[in-house]
Parts: sequence; structure tokens; C-alpha cells
Amino acid sequence: MRKKYIIVTGWVISGIWKGVTTAAAWFFLSEKFNVVPIKLDGYLNIDPGTMNPHEHGEVFVLADGAEVDMDFGHYERFLGNECTWVQSISMGKIFAGILEKERRGDFLWKTVQMIPHVTDHIVERIEDVFAQTWGEICMIEVGGTVWDIEVELYLEAIRQMRRIKRKEDILHIHLTYVPIPGWVHEQKTKPTQQSINLLQSRGLFPDIIVARGKAKLTKESREKIALFSNLRKERIFSIPDVPSIYEIPQILAKQKFDSLMQWMLNIWYEKSEKLEKWNKILYQEQKEKIIIWLVWKYTALEDSYSSISAALIHVGHKFWVQIETRFINTRNRDGIEEVKKCDGCIIPWGFWDTAIENMITTLTYIRENQIPCLGICLGMQLMAIEFTRNKLWIPQANSLEFDKHCQPYDVVTLLDSQKNIVQLWGTMRLGKQSSILIEGKIKELYTQQKRIKKSGSVHERFRHRYEINPEFAQKFESTWLHITWKSKKLWIAQFLELDSSVHPYYVGTQSHPELCSYLENPTPLFVGLIESCLKIKK
Ligand code: GLN
Repeated sequence: MRKKYIIVTGWVISGIWKGVTTAAAWFFLSEKFNVVPIKLDGYLNIDPGTMNPHEHGEVFVLADGAEVDMDFGHYERFLGNECTWVQSISMGKIFAGILEKERRGDFLWKTVQMIPHVTDHIVERIEDVFAQTWGEICMIEVGGTVWDIEVELYLEAIRQMRRIKRKEDILHIHLTYVPIPGWVHEQKTKPTQQSINLLQSRGLFPDIIVARGKAKLTKESREKIALFSNLRKERIFSIPDVPSIYEIPQILAKQKFDSLMQWMLNIWYEKSEKLEKWNKILYQEQKEKIIIWLVWKYTALEDSYSSISAALIHVGHKFWVQIETRFINTRNRDGIEEVKKCDGCIIPWGFWDTAIENMITTLTYIRENQIPCLGICLGMQLMAIEFTRNKLWIPQANSLEFDKHCQPYDVVTLLDSQKNIVQLWGTMRLGKQSSILIEGKIKELYTQQKRIKKSGSVHERFRHRYEINPEFAQKFESTWLHITWKSKKLWIAQFLELDSSVHPYYVGTQSHPELCSYLENPTPLFVGLIESCLKIKK
């Protein structure tokens, strides 16, 4: 088969599920073909690892340790296979590559220009990904909207690709937003028409339009969009707001999206079995409701914890319960009042010292009052600090991250591997690591969810710079706080739990279990949390 390319662009605003729609389109093709998603981002950072989650949303970590856009979370969750570093392309990487080539003399006697040198380099990188991943179909999502100055070079590169590829080898899907202003209660297609004009002025003519919006596209709106985009109305699709993003493949299937793609790309695949499996999981009545509070600090943007929300949806479907996630902002106060009203809590990941003391105070209440709780990365580190302060009677206990002068009370300390690194940014312990669990609740959960490999180890992804101080970990040995993990080579505490005789579910992990959670196979520690909430409720 010749290589196929599917380009996805977006318009009007961000947050209209462009990544999710790309993933959903991929969903149909991936059962038969090796589909490789690529994300083209306009920013000049090499990767989003150094960006503020307030601004950019969650940083997703791949198995190979790459820090990438949270859309990769959607790609992996919809498919269940692993992406790699090369699939995430930023303008920073493009320019770094161009400058390296220039210094090497690749452009000798030439003036290096945006067109053709930068655009050629973009196309080369896309082809490189194809080659490195043995891809058959490449799904390329262009970040941001088509108006952004940052993506202009990407659009020009795509125009050039369309010029030389055969029609059935490259498809352009354009995703737009169709608003319904409150004062007219009517769908407005003007922004969509404008974006099509904008693309046409750049020499791009989308083959499929997907309209997102609160409601289903009306017949009139569909016809209007078809007219302006020079397309038949069968090529205009509608994705209205739905309670769960996992319903999107089904919504697209109903409108015959996959048969159109097959016809346009001149490929053939069987009806999706996975879709049926998903429907069985998705369309079950969710009788009970569980309230989970996220005691957090990145308050401005819910997307900061996108994978945690996804993992809660997965586990909700497993137990057929509706999980309502609420957020406690601990920047200015503790969250005890809220925690009193919840069924369970998550103390998520985070960086630096803001909101920390209030999180610790809230944790004391959670621990003493037997509220089911999962600590993720920073969350686990705070569990260790709280326990040392209140149960080992060392009130000065702290993390070197929050107080540079807290030694010798640094319960959480800098990883050995990080001590001599001067360039702080992007110097973390990243990616997939394996651990061997010793007896306890955590091991039980990983066994129950069939997540223990034949070798006896479990795999999770990591993103941290600090660790629990081995000296303090020894002090925990005589207490109810167990470190339930071992390794012959390297000592970094990866899992801890409070003995089940003193707390129903008080579990922490240095890893990010939320990054490897799937609708068909939710992540064990989230399963344990909700199971425990349900037991207490009954
Ligand atoms: N800030 C902590 C560290 O770097 C925790 C990181 C995290 O929560 N991902 O170790």
C-alpha cells in the first residue's frame, strides 16, 4: 500500500476536541493499518516540558520519556499503543534542525529561507516519522487554529505535500466550531465559512468538514457549509457536545465517516469490532454517584489534569458509577470542609511550593478520618512529609523542592542523578520504568487488573526530579506506612501504602498511573480508589 496522509486542522477556538476527533478518526483505521499520529505545534519550545500547565494544559509523558502535548494522551487512549518522541514536532525542533543543517554546511552558497528550506524540512521530518515507525497511515494534527501566525509554515508545507501527492493519498479534515449565540438561539456558520475562505486563500481545499458545537448541525447549516466549501453535504459531519468523548467514534460511525474515508483513501477494512466492545462498556446505566475531590493547585485550567479526568471516566465505566470530580483550590486555604463531603480524594502531581502547606493540612484530615485517597507523584511525596511530621514527630520535615535549607529533615530530596545538573529545565527522571511490587494492597490491585508482566514487574511512567529520602524510608519500616516496592539496582521509592488495618485506602505512587489508563483496562490504583469509596458507601 502507498503511504497515506490525513491532515487535521482547526478553527475558531482551541478546546473544541480537535485532538479527540483526530484520535477518533484514527480509531477506525487502526484496527487494520499501522496508523501513526503526528502533532505539529507552533511554539518555539523544543517540547512543552518547560511550560506552565496553567497555560498549556497537562504535559503528557510518553514511554520513551518524551514530554509532549496532552493530545498524545487522547491518541494513546483511543488506540492503546505507544507513541514516540519523533511524533511530536514543534517549531522549536524545526528551527533547531534548520540551524544545525546550516552550520553543517548543508545549504552552502544558499540563502536559507522559510520557503523552501523550512517547509522542506517540515516535510522531511514527517517522512522521517513514517520511516522510523513503519507507518502506513499518518494522521497529522496541526496545533492551534489556521489563523495563527505560528502554524503558517506548516500549512504551506501541507499545501506543497498536497501538490505532489496523489489525490487518494492525502486527505484534509477541517474541524470548525459552530456557535449558537444565546440571543438568537440559532446555529451560525459564518466563522466556518470564513475559515474555509482563509484556507482557500492559502491554496488548501479541505475534503471533509467536521462541525463541533453544542447541538447537532441542522439541515440548513449543513447545506450552507457544503455550499461554501464546495463539497457535497455527505462530507460535512457533526459532533455535538456529548457527556463522554468516547462516544465520538460511534457518532462518526453513524454518519458513515469511516466508509467515506475508505472510499476517499482507496483502502478497505472490516467493520470495527473495537467499536462494539466500547459501546458495551459505554452504554451501561451509571446508577450510583461518587464524588472525588482533587486537591490541586493548577486551578485556572481543568486541562492541567486531563489524564486524571480520563482515568476517572474509565474507572467509572468499570463500576457503572457516575464520578463527579470537584476541585479544591488550596492556594489560599485548606480543603478540609470540602473533603468532609466527598467519597474520596486525589492529591495530584505538581511543582514548586505554592499551595503545599494547605495540601498537607488537608492530608492530615484525610489520613486521620479514613477518607480513601490516592497520592500521585507530588501527592505521594506530600503523604511522606505529612506522615513524618505527625507520626514520626519531626515537624521540620519537608522537601528540598519547597525549602532549600531543610536538610537534615529532607524527607523528600533531590534524586542523586540530578545533583550535578546545572541546567535545571528538562532534567527530570522521565518515561517508563519497571518495578517489582511486594505484598500489599497495591500488588493485589495490579494482579486483579492483569498488569503484572511475566517477569513479575509492573510498568508505569514517571516525571519527577525529587524522591523520598532512603534514610527516612528506613524509618517508615517500623510504622504502618509501607514502601511496597523493591529493586536490585536502584533505590527510588515508587509505591507506598498505609496498612489496611489503619486506613481503607491510603496509597501513593511516585509514578503517573493516569497516563496508562484505558477505557477497556482502567489503571489499578484508580480502580482501588473507587472500589474503596463504593465499599464505604455501602
Ligand atoms: N515536583 C516533584 C518532583 O519533581 C513532583 C513531580 C510531579 O508531581 N510530577 O519530584
